[in-house]
Amino acid sequence: MNQRPFIVAIDGPAGAGKSTVSKVLARRLGFALVDTGAIYRCVALKARREGIALDDDGKLGELLGRVRVSFEVVGEDNHVFLDGEDVSAEIRTPENSMAASQVSSRPVVREGLLSLQRRLALQAPKGAILEGRDIGTVVFPDADAKFFLEADPTIRARRRYEELFQKGVERSLSDVLTDQVKRDQDDASRAVAPLKPADDARRVDSTELPLSEVVHTLEQEILARISRR
Ligand code: C5P
Repeated sequence: MNQRPFIVAIDGPAGAGKSTVSKVLARRLGFALVDTGAIYRCVALKARREGIALDDDGKLGELLGRVRVSFEVVGEDNHVFLDGEDVSAEIRTPENSMAASQVSSRPVVREGLLSLQRRLALQAPKGAILEGRDIGTVVFPDADAKFFLEADPTIRARRRYEELFQKGVERSLSDVLTDQVKRDQDDASRAVAPLKPADDARRVDSTELPLSEVVHTLEQEILARISRR
């Protein structure tokens, strides 16, 4: 019988290091990387471009039928394509981050994106790393390894601030922190698939740990689980 790819769920709040850790792990393990936040960000961007209100379930539902999202690793970066256009930078502006959080609270959007997220992971030849908020609880409750990354909010905001700064986005640290607190609260308090650790997720706090150590911890556990499979 064909074995399905090895599925790794990495959830956690904004700025906890999920993207950095997932990228390195995917490269080292030869796994596909599914950045589910980028998918919500693409839906938000398309809705904004088309002037669709972020709570208009009818129009959002119709938009989901026409949205095409794909990923391509170019050098060190995971590029995101919306309907064939590289939108890697545009989906990460502060405005689009808040919009992504808003559309992601609509059940029609979450439901509509489930099969895409599962398909992207299950078509991977060897394994897939999915990063998001509800991977271990909703998208793959039966994932082969589950992690929940967390860190002190000020440390997370500082990381995000530095990342934005390097990309040429000027934003004060206090604005980054304010946006992050709002997004975390909205993500954790929504009715459908809120941000929370799965009961069987391993929680890793990186407040005092360099991300290279987080990578090492996760990699060791994944390799151990692969060998026991
Ligand atoms: O991970 P990232 O910050 O790129 O995600 C953007 C937004 O998409 C999050 O704030 C959250 O509202 C939403 N999201 C989600 N479920 C996921 C991934 C992201 O609701 N699995």
